[in-house]
Amino acid sequence: MNAADLVAKKRDRQELAGDEIAFLVTGFLQGSVSEGQMGALLMAVFLNGMTAQESADLTLAMANSGDRLDLSGIPGTKVDKHSTGGVGDKTTLVVAPLVAALGVPVPKMSGRALGHTGGTIDKLEAIPGLTTDLSPDRFCRQVGEIGLAIAAQTARMAPADKLIYALRDATGTVESIPLIASSVMSKKLAVGADAIVLDVKAGLGAFMREVEHACQLARAMVDIGARQGRRVVALVTSMEQPLGAAVGDAVELAEAVATLSGRGPADLVELCQALAAHMLLLGGVARDLEDGRSRAREGMHSGIGLAKLREMVTAQGGSAGALDDPEVLVQGTERIPIELAEDGVIVGIDPRRIGLALRDLKLAVGEHKHACGLLLARKVGGVVGRREPVAFLVAPPAARRVAAEAANRIRASYRVGREAPSVPELVAATIAS
Ligand code: URA
Repeated sequence: MNAADLVAKKRDRQELAGDEIAFLVTGFLQGSVSEGQMGALLMAVFLNGMTAQESADLTLAMANSGDRLDLSGIPGTKVDKHSTGGVGDKTTLVVAPLVAALGVPVPKMSGRALGHTGGTIDKLEAIPGLTTDLSPDRFCRQVGEIGLAIAAQTARMAPADKLIYALRDATGTVESIPLIASSVMSKKLAVGADAIVLDVKAGLGAFMREVEHACQLARAMVDIGARQGRRVVALVTSMEQPLGAAVGDAVELAEAVATLSGRGPADLVELCQALAAHMLLLGGVARDLEDGRSRAREGMHSGIGLAKLREMVTAQGGSAGALDDPEVLVQGTERIPIELAEDGVIVGIDPRRIGLALRDLKLAVGEHKHACGLLLARKVGGVVGRREPVAFLVAPPAARRVAAEAANRIRASYRVGREAPSVPELVAATIAS
């Protein structure tokens, strides 16, 4: 096989075979396929797309490029969960322990903040002492013992994806549905769960702005899963405004704890119950979605999900006291009110601008980064009076100057009108194999 011939084949819109894709991916990892050749291939894929079989083959080649976990010794159907990334999206911190407490093992490898979106690992690292750096053995053992582990993706899992992702970033080929789908699913296959629930975000704060494109991405990932023998359900959900009322590591952790104690904000509760219901159904614990939803609801009120989160935090070396009183995580910070110049109805809150303002604030404050965040007092559709705070920025007093800059950017992310806007459905579509 010759890399240049294969690139030309894709350029000419012919379908690549599984062994050809594996040759290119392995060759790129080992250095026999150059960056130029891989970059050209990525652009050909970006322009010409991939068939469902090609996407599945690319996913498998990237999953096979590194460690693959063997969870087969753990009884039960193991169910993973993944979000394509949003602002204020702390659903993993709620749903994973809740579902595990209800009897479905959840092996979860998560990412860090990327661009304007937050990362589960950063949120967990707000807990003193907690490690997300688990060896494959420790990760599998913990899932076997307590039914739950949330760890950072290791460099040895799907390393080809990591390299290819960096090249996509450098060649303007990130926003390709088959490339995003195979990138996400390669990491899911490497973790090895039997079933996966995907939360594919659509809207201003998401990778995919349009619901239609998010549905195409969801369909591509569900197809890849089915071709690799996994049951996958994808929920396409709205990211037109931040999810819940908290954005930032420690404040999101606190909101997850409140949600697991039956005191979560309505949109977050609704999404967590929908995701949990699908996971419980795939895991064979719920009879149907309604049963799953009602188990999730009860679990949020009984506190079993919070107890499971505490068990996981302790197993990963963290101080569980932070869950009893999450205020300790933002000790010493101040709350800066964010007021708007006009009154009226909030018609838009741009999650991307908020995410970027907080990212820059975190970068500027250094060691106190986990304590920085935003508490939203009003969401889209809320009525606001002049000089009434719509949100509070949480930041250390030493960072007043950068915090003021962040507050201005956050203020500018609000749009006020005279009439109540229509708020899109939180779950726009459900796509299953
Ligand atoms: N997340 C991933 O893991 N890969 C992509 O390509 C995009 C988002």
